[in-house]
Amino acid sequence: MVVLMEKGFVESNIKRVEESLSASGLKTERIVGEERTIVLAIGKINEGEDFINHLLSLSGVAEINKISKPYKLASKEMGNGNKVVIRGRIKENESKIYLDRKNSIMIAGPCSVESIEQMEKTAMFLKGIGVKAIRAGAFKPRTGPRNFEGLREEGLKILHELRKKYGMLIVTELLSEKHAEMFLDYVDVVQIGTRNMQNFELLKTAGEMNIPVILKRGMSATYEEWLLAAEYILDRQKEKAVILCERGIRTFETATRNALDINAVPAIKSLSWLPIIVDPSHATGKRAFVYDMACASIAAGADGLIVEVHPKPEEALTDGSQSLSFDDYIPLYHTAKKIAETIGKTIV
Ligand code: PEP
Ligand code: MN
Repeated sequence: MVVLMEKGFVESNIKRVEESLSASGLKTERIVGEERTIVLAIGKINEGEDFINHLLSLSGVAEINKISKPYKLASKEMGNGNKVVIRGRIKENESKIYLDRKNSIMIAGPCSVESIEQMEKTAMFLKGIGVKAIRAGAFKPRTGPRNFEGLREEGLKILHELRKKYGMLIVTELLSEKHAEMFLDYVDVVQIGTRNMQNFELLKTAGEMNIPVILKRGMSATYEEWLLAAEYILDRQKEKAVILCERGIRTFETATRNALDINAVPAIKSLSWLPIIVDPSHATGKRAFVYDMACASIAAGADGLIVEVHPKPEEALTDGSQSLSFDDYIPLYHTAKKIAETIGKTIV
């Protein structure tokens, strides 16, 4: 059950609600949003309508919603007024991006960090057109063991240089719990890749890091499995900041790398308050299809895009065939912006 408090923070009102819930044997968790506070009650509620009416009569209580889904913190009922806040974590970049149903984020960059020159060129280009968040993998999950696995900590250091010099938000994939502490020195947003969506120990660690997490959908995961994976992170995160990312699922089709499940955008919105962004690069695996699928995703209401962009895609060490050149990315960015505006959203 979710008790949604009225706007404004009144400690005594919240405490009173928590005491009533605890007295009925329920465990409570307080979620303090930018505008409102929510008190989540976990456990079996034996009391009937009288109890609900009693709660509704308490000062400051705006609404009560029952949650029947197995994921609670990720559920739509928790959403009212909630937004995910992405913050720059160093003094050179203390900007904040609010992701809610009105704002969409553009994230772009190469699949992997390859060199400082490659990353500088990309950062300069992206910043120049208004993109605030840059992606690139320093640790790469590779299907086979003898492929480029990333520059590892050296790659993270390059990303950290970019964030200092260009003030961009850094998004990069966390592959192992062992790297969590190191990541906290270098990154603003952690990405959990499709292969690790159900690596529950990694999810718990990502939650404990208490920085925003982009949770990619497992390539064969259902929406419920995906939201339950998000719940592992939310359970441990103080600032509830999980962004779901649809990146294509496995089907019988072999002409494209994956099949972009655009259904996921409205479907997830009907189940969860969490923002959902789309990765048209991994979803298609083909540069020629990325623009169309990016536009379609924004039109479907996606809360952002994460797109692979490389200064020389034909020379990329990973995922070159799906990476866009700078010239390819410019029209995507501007068209996505226009489509977002048409449906009442702003790209931040
Ligand atoms: C990536 O973003 O480069 C990546 C490996 O993505 P995914 O986990 O979706 O395959
Ligand atoms: Mn990639």
